Amino acid sequence: MPVPNSPKYVYAFAEGNKDLKDLLGGKGANLAEMSNLGLPVPPGFTITTEACRAYLAGGEEPTGLRGEVDAHLAALEERMGRRLGQPDDPLLVSVRSGAAFSMPGMMDTVLNIGLSDASVDGLAAQAGDERFAWDSYRRLIQMFGKTVLGVDGELFEERLESAKDAKGAASDLDLDASDLRSLVTAYKELVAKEAGQDFPQDPRTQLDLAVRAVFSSWNGERARLYRRQERIPDDLGTAVNIVAMVFGNLGADSGTGVAFTRDPATGKQGVYGDYLANAQGEDVVAGIRNTVSLADLERLDKSSYDQLLDIMRTLEDHYRDLCDIEFTIERGTLWMLQTRVGKRTAEAAFRIAAQLVDQGLIDEDEALRRVTGAQLAQLMFPRFAERTERTERAGASGDGPDAGDDGDFRPIARGIAASPGAAVGRAVFDQDTAVEWANNGDRVILVRRETNPDDLAGMVAAEGILTSRGGKTSHAAVVARGMGKTCVCGAESLDVDPGRRRFTAPGGIEVGEGDVISVDGTSGCVYLGEAPVVPSAVVDYFEGRTAPTDGESDALVPAVHRIMAHADARRRLRVRANADTGEDAERALRFGAEGIGLLRTEHMFLGERRKHVERLVLADTDDGRTAALDALLPLQRRDFADVLAAMDGLPVTIRLLDPPLHEFLPDLTDLSVRVALAEARGEEDADDRALLDAVRRLHEQNPMLGLRGVRLGLVIPGLFAMQIRAIAEAAAERVREGGTPHAEIMVPLVGGVQELEIIRDEAHSVFAAVAEETGAEVSFPVGTMIELPRAALTAGQIAEAAEFFSFGTNDLTQTTWGFSRDDVEASFFTAYLDAGIFGVSPFETLDRDGVGRLVALAVSEGRATRPDLALGVCGEHGGDPESVRFFHDVGLDYVSCSPFRLPVARLEAGRAAVARDGGKGGDTR
Ligand code: ADP
Ligand code: MG
Ligand code: MG
Repeated sequence: MPVPNSPKYVYAFAEGNKDLKDLLGGKGANLAEMSNLGLPVPPGFTITTEACRAYLAGGEEPTGLRGEVDAHLAALEERMGRRLGQPDDPLLVSVRSGAAFSMPGMMDTVLNIGLSDASVDGLAAQAGDERFAWDSYRRLIQMFGKTVLGVDGELFEERLESAKDAKGAASDLDLDASDLRSLVTAYKELVAKEAGQDFPQDPRTQLDLAVRAVFSSWNGERARLYRRQERIPDDLGTAVNIVAMVFGNLGADSGTGVAFTRDPATGKQGVYGDYLANAQGEDVVAGIRNTVSLADLERLDKSSYDQLLDIMRTLEDHYRDLCDIEFTIERGTLWMLQTRVGKRTAEAAFRIAAQLVDQGLIDEDEALRRVTGAQLAQLMFPRFAERTERTERAGASGDGPDAGDDGDFRPIARGIAASPGAAVGRAVFDQDTAVEWANNGDRVILVRRETNPDDLAGMVAAEGILTSRGGKTSHAAVVARGMGKTCVCGAESLDVDPGRRRFTAPGGIEVGEGDVISVDGTSGCVYLGEAPVVPSAVVDYFEGRTAPTDGESDALVPAVHRIMAHADARRRLRVRANADTGEDAERALRFGAEGIGLLRTEHMFLGERRKHVERLVLADTDDGRTAALDALLPLQRRDFADVLAAMDGLPVTIRLLDPPLHEFLPDLTDLSVRVALAEARGEEDADDRALLDAVRRLHEQNPMLGLRGVRLGLVIPGLFAMQIRAIAEAAAERVREGGTPHAEIMVPLVGGVQELEIIRDEAHSVFAAVAEETGAEVSFPVGTMIELPRAALTAGQIAEAAEFFSFGTNDLTQTTWGFSRDDVEASFFTAYLDAGIFGVSPFETLDRDGVGRLVALAVSEGRATRPDLALGVCGEHGGDPESVRFFHDVGLDYVSCSPFRLPVARLEAGRAAVARDGGKGGDTR
């Protein structure tokens, strides 16, 4: 019982419930919940995460813990009518770890604790089954030896295999009691040799060592790394569950199984699961023998089957969601060993949410909470048609059995789904070939053991990337995600031989350079041949190509439509698109844009127009400069007129020219060579010479931090005024045609209010002049990007001159961290991710702790100066699910992102508005 002043460290199942996850871990909380629902859960108790924290802090069991365990164990023994390890009739228990979050690297469960040389015969006599008793004992020594004493698990497997070989046995079931007895002897010798200590015979010592091992596994290397990457706090600790054993290995009328309350792939209701007779624990998922489907259990044990289905219905109604469960049948009696809200595919997440609304189990807010932007994003990539689908279609079209010509592609390997999408192309094994073939119009897949910065050009040229090594944070994975390119990495069954330009897949399949392969970055599957690609039904719906109400209300598209409509109704954040052309703008509108948050003007200075930029740079008189600007003015006016027409009535934020001018001039090396060659031939070209001087003059060591943004506008007289005039004139034209243009002038890279004041004043005089010339009322808000730390830090001053802020979080991330994305992503990011310095790239998800603080500061100081300051974000983070949540919480008015990401932003903005967790993000059920 609790010692005075010490916390309560142990909870009987009857004392817990599903909301106590932080204290009892997910497994313990749900065991308590099921037990309190009256479901058949073997009795047991849970040692809290708090006990674990105390153990880890003090290096020993906290005072009071032992006494509490004594009391709960005594109560359990009383209830079961036998003592732990009692020689003639032993009570056995399992010791199971279980933290609030499920986490790789935590200690595996140990079953059959309490069994020893002294009680194995007692167990045999009680069960009337000698084989069962020795099977349980050998399992205990194996699990305990491996997880508690740290003996290499392979060594046990080797001995099991040789016992089977010696007998000519096909499976573990063919080993009889005496075989298993010998195996126990072999295991004990193994433990003594490898662990330097005997397998403990005292039942309570077994229990205590196992509990302690669970505590310690919290700080195992894998668990720590995982927590660092997922930003799960290190000080949560894990709970430990001690559960009376029930036995699935007691003969043909016993067994163990797993099940889902509905199909985790489609959400369909039905009977989904696997069952393995005469087996224990993980056997059913470990592939040691062939399992049967759950439906077959009806034949094997109808009453347990009916009871199980009944329980599944109870759980669904109670949790109001898809649950997955673990169960065991002991001689015809059903026992529930675990449940939790089950993982599901993206498609199933939407369909299940819609089904549960239809069933009246949840409301629409809850449906919205149960799907994520990341899941929606997954549904928006094209995917490969499934084989069955192809066969069905072939059958339906009435062609012969060969009509599907399935021979043209087949799965050959599976790796890690690192960056989603479906890519088809010819296999190439080095970057030069990738670039050369791609330039010739071939689609290629770059295949490497792993990639490094030297492969970058090849990755850019390829449709997709396939590697045989490395995980989700490998170079290939990080860079591919950054580029939005399909990637499967770590396909370890492939033997890649770049020297011979080929790889070998299981079964000896050789794939050489030029052979067509297909790579599925959503599932991790690799196919030989060209797999047919199906466009995303969800994108077809957003594009307006399919009706939202086709099919059942829980079919994918109708489900997405319902949930999107609810998100739109609930969200406070507006969404805008980053779009540069009328065409982009139209797509953005179809995808739900409520304006343009970033229209970049740099694209408008390329191609034919470069010559005007060259003239502008070369001009050494005011007249020369004016002539160049005059030539650009009408071109710009037309650009803006198109977009203002497409977005009539909606805000369009136009960013004045941002990149350094040298980007519009010829390459320094090319030009130097041209001039040198001409000189050698004695035919000097004065224009080229002057251009070369200008390129040299404008050459920068670090262009990202050089002459760009507002600095250009201040150094090149008339440049920004020309752009502003083009906007004002285009708007005046729209007004004359009866339109309602809402332009907003955005000044990039401002670091101090003085820079902005000069441009603002210039803008106001241009507006006045154009209004006078055209008679149209054209005056638009002038604002700035906040993309330099200094701008964020002086936001209070800048807001005096700015009517709006738009956070340029890409540059703000670069300048806050002091690294340039192109350089670091390709070179050392993977090392940083591996070391857990950050869990995801700060270019994917906004770094709340650093960049996020600058944003929050600028929001509050900006609004303090100007309460009606409009606030938005136009970096790519505007379409990232987790970042959208942050922008909602920090009080922005809108997010702006690429048209394709708009649905994700709308959904996440809706989720943010109905969130229950105070905006921490993620589903915490
Ligand atoms: P995990 O966290 O890996 O799912 P579990 O603690 O659920 O590990 O246990 C591993 C396996 O052992 C599961 O199949 C579970 O159902 C089974 N198991 C756990 N405790 C018992 C018990 N008391 N009696 C019978 N089987 C058990
Ligand atoms: Mg389990
Ligand atoms: Mg920028």
